[in-house]
Amino acid sequence: MPNVVLVTGGTGLVGKAIEHVINTEPEGSRFGKLPGETWVFASSAEGDLRDSEQTRKLYEKYKPTHVIHLAALVGGLFKNMKYKAHDNELQLTFLRDNILINDNVLHSAYEHKAQKVISCLSTCVFPDKVEYPLDENKIHNGPPHESNFGYAHAKRMVDVQNHAYKEEFGCNFTSAIPTNVFGPYDNFDLEDSHVIPGLIHKCYLAKKNNTPFVVSGTGKPLRQFIFSYDLAKLFIWMLREYDDVEPVILSVGEEEEVSIKEVADAIVKAVGFQGDYSFDTTRADGQFRKPASNKKLLKLMGGFEFTPFEDALDLTVKWFLGNYNNART
Ligand code: NDP
Repeated sequence: MPNVVLVTGGTGLVGKAIEHVINTEPEGSRFGKLPGETWVFASSAEGDLRDSEQTRKLYEKYKPTHVIHLAALVGGLFKNMKYKAHDNELQLTFLRDNILINDNVLHSAYEHKAQKVISCLSTCVFPDKVEYPLDENKIHNGPPHESNFGYAHAKRMVDVQNHAYKEEFGCNFTSAIPTNVFGPYDNFDLEDSHVIPGLIHKCYLAKKNNTPFVVSGTGKPLRQFIFSYDLAKLFIWMLREYDDVEPVILSVGEEEEVSIKEVADAIVKAVGFQGDYSFDTTRADGQFRKPASNKKLLKLMGGFEFTPFEDALDLTVKWFLGNYNNART
């Protein structure tokens, strides 16, 4: 039987990137579509995965042999902090929605005898107090940062469930841990987005309205950013070539960290902004660095050529400018 790959969260930033790569890489190549293979990119309109019956129906409809599970209730730093500060019940929403989604997706995969499931964790599920660099063995070594405890605990349970399904039923379930992702189809909302899409939108408006471009914080913190099209290739590699329950960090190397100032400089250049540009140092910076090691990934893959940061950013800005009316803003 040919493979049917179901991508949950197929309409989000990462799902759209996988769709792009699978449709543009040469058929039969390492990251391209294999002959006879079918890919299904499901949105929440196809079924609300918090609901077990709707999840089961999705599996019955497509009969996936493989699943890349991306669907999640996600929020940017400020969204999570705002929820924590103003309404603790929303931490519960992050916890419950993600627990329900993950449990339904994994259990339906077990019931429908899917051959493999790769679920998506995140480096922000790691303990708040941890020795850096992060690596795959440190996920459960202490409580996560209080600003996202709901999301983090729900995601950590996926790793626990993967082990339990493997031990009890021999399921081939595993997980990937991406660092900060950016690319086309991101959420460019000015308040509730991650740093890159938020700054791209802000800079675009500053140029359009002839107003200053002000970046929150000192610009000094360092982060590892992965371009969504690169991440998509790594997911496809995991799907085809990785068969172990233990998670793999999908990231550029520790030496590829960039500062928020470097990010903002690159955005200013890509947008073509020539007005006033400054940093609001009264705003919170967040942690200075939280490097993650990609040694396991590179050792297993035997090397991977990441898209240079500026090229990826340029492509993302071009996409945003060309799709302003349809982008999530
Ligand atoms: P997006 O917010 O861009 O997309 C979320 C996707 O999940 C959408 O396709 C959405 O469907 C779907 N979804 C949400 N709720 C439900 C639901 N109840 N039922 C069915 N589908 C649902 O997320 P990303 O692409 O950014 O993230 C993908 C994965 O990567 C997530 O698991 C996230 O935790 C993880 N991740 C993301 C990082 C990042 O920087 N973006 C970093 C590290 C990990 P619809 O479009 O219909 O709403």
